[in-house]
Amino acid sequence: MSDQNYSFFGAVEESFDKAAKHTKWDEGILNQIKACNAVYRMRFPVKRDNGSIEVIEAYRVQHSHHKTPCKGGIRFSEAVNQDEVMALAALMTYKCAIVNVPFGGGKGGIKINPKAYSAYELEKITRRYTAELIKKDFIGPGTDVPAPDYGTGEREMAWIIDTYSAMHPGEIDAAGCVTGKPVSQGGVRGRREATGLGVFFGLREVCNTPDVMEKLGLTPGVKDKRVVVQGLGNVGYHSAKFFQDAGAKIVGLAEYEGAIWSDDGLDVDAVFQHRKNTGSILNFPGSQNFAKNTDALEMDCDILIPAALENVINGENAPRVKAKIIGEAANGPLTPEADDVFVKKGVLVVPDMYLNAGGVTVSYFEWLKNLSHVRYGRLEKRFTENMNAHILSQIEELSGKQVKDNEREFIMHGPDEVDLVYSGLEETMITATKEIMTKWQEDPNIPDMRTAAYVVAINKVGTSYAELGIFP
Ligand code: NAD
Repeated sequence: MSDQNYSFFGAVEESFDKAAKHTKWDEGILNQIKACNAVYRMRFPVKRDNGSIEVIEAYRVQHSHHKTPCKGGIRFSEAVNQDEVMALAALMTYKCAIVNVPFGGGKGGIKINPKAYSAYELEKITRRYTAELIKKDFIGPGTDVPAPDYGTGEREMAWIIDTYSAMHPGEIDAAGCVTGKPVSQGGVRGRREATGLGVFFGLREVCNTPDVMEKLGLTPGVKDKRVVVQGLGNVGYHSAKFFQDAGAKIVGLAEYEGAIWSDDGLDVDAVFQHRKNTGSILNFPGSQNFAKNTDALEMDCDILIPAALENVINGENAPRVKAKIIGEAANGPLTPEADDVFVKKGVLVVPDMYLNAGGVTVSYFEWLKNLSHVRYGRLEKRFTENMNAHILSQIEELSGKQVKDNEREFIMHGPDEVDLVYSGLEETMITATKEIMTKWQEDPNIPDMRTAAYVVAINKVGTSYAELGIFP
């Protein structure tokens, strides 16, 4: 497939087929795993603030029902089309399998540029979209659970839960119909930054694997690594921030309007604030401007994190990419042609479908919280603190020595919700990285980490379908 008639879903199928050769499943099961089970394409009218009527095009795709509910974000973007939503839904199936989240893959999209609509218009569109999903039973805590994605956030999720609850009075688990909600509406602490934190945990684990780093000619660890991030939205901002906090140097950042570079490192929060104040990332004090946002992709760095949209690195610009590691924070930022270039160049591509799974992992925690109707840590926090205090006082009494105040505070601390969410996410990302790396090392014919990740996913979904008894 050339880059010109690029199909995102086709690219996902291509990667799937490449990986399927390294599995034992027969064609029937592989075809069922690959297929998009249900595609709902809708059109509905919205009255604009100026009184005109506009017809909105939107989608919800349920890629797989091997586990339910289906799970996947809702995207607001002018680039939304059926092919894209199908591809993103398929990636969700594989993503959930890799990180052991018991959901099938889903995805939604509304074909609008959210910046061209007022908040009131966006609210009407989101509520009407939710109503359309309800009509066809395409949303609900046990059927299909959306979440934020490109162009959407907590605000849109709050409109969705409100619309759903209004139309399901008395449904006790209604809060579980959508994740990524504000905490006051049943959201979980740590969800906002979850995808970026997951990107950081995944890449940190890769950087902490000495033989992988040796092959790339890099020293182990995240500290002092030179990082470039494309997109300063939810995923990009938090990925950049966690890398900076861990001692990496953010040498380049890109947004819609252009890119900036500083050899000494950019302060992520200061750049974010500068963009808020001036409306642009450009002209940040002490940095060099690049007019094209794509220039960031070719900057000299150790780790490149595309965190905006798909298809940004392709057969044309891949040969000019200088990074040694590419962490796919966005969904589908590389075309298959770019993948081939990087395998030949020995660049490590850490694939989207597990690297950006932090969002869905913490969404799973949020959904569990909604079904259990209790905040994480509420039952055990005080008990743990009392127990820790008791153990500490016994140790001090027996040893005759006292621990320092800051150590005392750390040891005594019982887990808050955010502590439990972060540690659950850390465990999930480390386990997934190790599982994929092990699969890759086991089979010398697997060419890259993406293929290894697909093999892990196919085996899990395949096992699930086989155990369902559909295929004797
Ligand atoms: P977002 O809307 O919060 O941020 C995207 C940012 O990218 C925006 O600031 C936008 O201006 C910028 N951008 C757009 N085009 C650009 C370009 N050409 N160059 C540089 N910047 C550009 O969206 P998000 O939620 O951060 O999602 C980003 C990507 O991550 C998407 O591919 C999405 O599917 C994926 N993702 C998101 C989540 C999540 O939890 N939000 C989870 C998994 C994957």
